[in-house]
Amino acid sequence: MPAELVGASYRCSTCGQELAEAASLLPAWDPRVVPCSGITGHDCEVAGKRTLQFSTCQSFVINPFPRRFELVLVDKIVKTAATEIGPEAMLENSWFEGRAHRVLVCTQCEDHIGWSYKARQGDVIFGLALSVSKFWAWLCLCALVVFALYQVTAGGHVLVATATLLIALLKLSPHILL
Ligand SMILES: [Zn+2]
Repeated sequence: MPAELVGASYRCSTCGQELAEAASLLPAWDPRVVPCSGITGHDCEVAGKRTLQFSTCQSFVINPFPRRFELVLVDKIVKTAATEIGPEAMLENSWFEGRAHRVLVCTQCEDHIGWSYKARQGDVIFGLALSVSKFWAWLCLCALVVFALYQVTAGGHVLVATATLLIALLKLSPHILL
């Protein structure tokens, strides 16, 4: 879980660094937030504030092993706690209308903690990922193990089956570990 609520702050769940105050959560009715199709918001109360928690899943087009995310939006993060990485901000595949997104990582442990969403006029809001589900990657891992076992029990060579499985695991590991 990349970010977690501890007391009145969201912290990196890997290293504990403070990322944002719960007071920075955007209210449920904030006009800056216009969700695109494919993401849904659920009303919730966090630290006495009415806000929205969003659920969404990546498409197979952008990730062969799509991940499901739960996230909340804040308008401020601790300046030194997060940095943007990866490609330049882009509107394509953004979950919020008119907002170009970039990946945010924790500056201390470099774990993925969420995204920045920048509007054309420069206003930025931030999505903090609360949970990440890697269902498809795990399903693929199970299928690989079952296939390797089948190869062995069907009279295949144990060494060949093991080598094939190890190569496949090597390819799959970034999708499970990162
Ligand atoms: Zn961290």
